[in-house]
Amino acid sequence: MAQAASKTCEVCVSAPGSQYCIDCEEFYCENCKLLHNRQKLSRNHQFQEASDLIPEGKSKCNEHKEELTLICNICNAQICTSCVTGQHNGHTFSKIVDVIGQLRGDNETKIRAKENESIHNMKTIEDSLESFNNSVESVIKSINDEGNIIKRMVDKSVAQMIALVKEQSKKERGKLFNSLADAKSVFVDGQTLDRKRKELEKSRQDGSLVQKINNLKEEIDKLTINSLPEFPKITFSRKSVAEDDIRKMMGTYTIR
Ligand SMILES: [Zn+2]
Ligand SMILES: [Zn+2]
Ligand SMILES: [Zn+2]
Ligand SMILES: [Zn+2]
Repeated sequence: MAQAASKTCEVCVSAPGSQYCIDCEEFYCENCKLLHNRQKLSRNHQFQEASDLIPEGKSKCNEHKEELTLICNICNAQICTSCVTGQHNGHTFSKIVDVIGQLRGDNETKIRAKENESIHNMKTIEDSLESFNNSVESVIKSINDEGNIIKRMVDKSVAQMIALVKEQSKKERGKLFNSLADAKSVFVDGQTLDRKRKELEKSRQDGSLVQKINNLKEEIDKLTINSLPEFPKITFSRKSVAEDDIRKMMGTYTIR
């Protein structure tokens, strides 16, 4: 059976180099491997069995000195064409180039499949990210729209209430102006009567004066002082709207 060419330890150059340092690319014997792994600089170096190494270049069959071009499927060994009729007689074989071609092809196929799947996933994630972003924008717009509708309703209610206050207070103010005008006319009439009274004081004191004073008395009696009107009052009762009340007026969103 074919074997990897046996090497000698490259450190002590005496014991068989059964261990291969992957980092230094050198063969070590078991003892030198232990020393190598104890040294600070090479403490983490990785070793592999020298027998597992794939032989460099095209190795020759030890027995027939021919190129190892086949793999015996039964013995899982590299053999030459002459080995086929020797100790591997009746076994099945594969060409090494075919095995390599098959493995390379398989690897390429698997890598392509995974690449395609990850490209597909990237696309799916990007699409969903874009549609999520659009949804977020549209939710923000809806919140703004609803807020604006509520603001417009608030503005409208404020304007309507102010208009009502102005209209109704105008009526009340009108009543007060009327009462004021009444009081003023009583005052003016009173002044007129007072002038008459002063004139009568200068008149001769005879029978006609008695009549005139009596007439004046009647006029004074007729001068009616209206009772004071009911004075209008206006107050505002706060509702103390809280932020939570506003939130309850708005719709809600869900995000999962
Ligand atoms: Zn050694
Ligand atoms: Zn090393
Ligand atoms: Zn051979
Ligand atoms: Zn075999």
